Amino acid sequence: MFDALTRQPDDPLLALIGLFQKDERPGKVDLGVGVYRDETGHTPIFRAVKAAEKRLLETQDSKAYVGPEGDLVFLDHLWSLVAGDTVERSHVAGVQTPGGSGALRLAADLIARMGGRGIWLGLPSWPNHAPIFKAAGLNIATYDFFDIPSQSVTFDNVVTALEGAAPGDAVLLHASCHNPTGGVLTEAQWMEIAALAAQRNLLPLVDLAYQGFGRGLDQDVAGLRHLIGIVPEALVAVSCSKSFGLYRERTGAIFALTASASSADTVRSNLAGLARTSYSMPPDHGAAVVRTILADPELRRDWAEELKAMRLRMTGIRHTLAEGLRTRWQSLGAIAGQEGMFSMLPLTEAEVMRLRTEHGIYMPGSGRINIAGLKTAEVANVVPKFTSL
Ligand code: PMP
Repeated sequence: MFDALTRQPDDPLLALIGLFQKDERPGKVDLGVGVYRDETGHTPIFRAVKAAEKRLLETQDSKAYVGPEGDLVFLDHLWSLVAGDTVERSHVAGVQTPGGSGALRLAADLIARMGGRGIWLGLPSWPNHAPIFKAAGLNIATYDFFDIPSQSVTFDNVVTALEGAAPGDAVLLHASCHNPTGGVLTEAQWMEIAALAAQRNLLPLVDLAYQGFGRGLDQDVAGLRHLIGIVPEALVAVSCSKSFGLYRERTGAIFALTASASSADTVRSNLAGLARTSYSMPPDHGAAVVRTILADPELRRDWAEELKAMRLRMTGIRHTLAEGLRTRWQSLGAIAGQEGMFSMLPLTEAEVMRLRTEHGIYMPGSGRINIAGLKTAEVANVVPKFTSL
């Protein structure tokens, strides 16, 4: 019976990890994989996470089920971190999910259950967005969000897409630290998006996977807060993978901003029901860690400080890299002002392959680079390999 199946292609990013590991050249550089790396090339565990885990080890006295909605105290703290006091809390329904991916999938399942026709997706985007939405049965309408040669957000296209969307359509937005381009929406642009979404009765689905990786914990959600202050209904998918370094613990949440407390209750019951028929309940550990950190002023301060140091390391590399690359591509000076872990270089697939084979520099064929994959001291060596292509 399994013969009815066909072999599926390997995930190109995961395949890249294998190729990198096999490469024995000492100066090889991995700009592919989407995790934060420090100056030693290591993906660290936050000090506050370690401290919270110690506490949990000592105090946790049961492994009984938590329930399909997950840890309610975690949800409360996480929503405060994301949204502050922007909206009436009784109008918000939250459900803990296995990572941001789980949050996006529950959001897509909910939209499908609501009879939603589809979702608008600006390209390029995180490669798993479209497959998740498709798997939930949504139609996907795409538009060009970013122009790689000029390194600029093509905001006119965003406006045209929103103006062309039918009432009730969902619209995927990256809260900040756009993956894969690093492209930034200005405050005025967020205001325009919010006004259009409200006017045209669209449902924003905001993907927040990098809070604290761009300009700061509050700055990275400023646009999102403005949006949810204006639209009556929205979905927010939160990933704790990067902001808390909890990747493999699968920690995240889906929040729905609704128009009333009773609507929030209905949405919550639907999200919980969708979780129940998929994975039943989310894993506990990562959410317990986040809850412990956010509830404790000292752990929270330490976490925010470490996150800030990571952000500043990435910003420093962005500036040095931009200075070097602009000597060959003037537009790449923009990398300095972009946000988060990623930028997208105007390279052909052949150039990406040459960097790999001739210099041991690894990145996906799209030309996306993980800024955090670079060490500060390495940038000066790496830049000439790009500029001499
Ligand atoms: N959204 C974006 C934009 C991402 O880059 C990622 C992860 N790389 C996710 C969502 C999902 O993250 P998680 O690992 O928490 O599922």
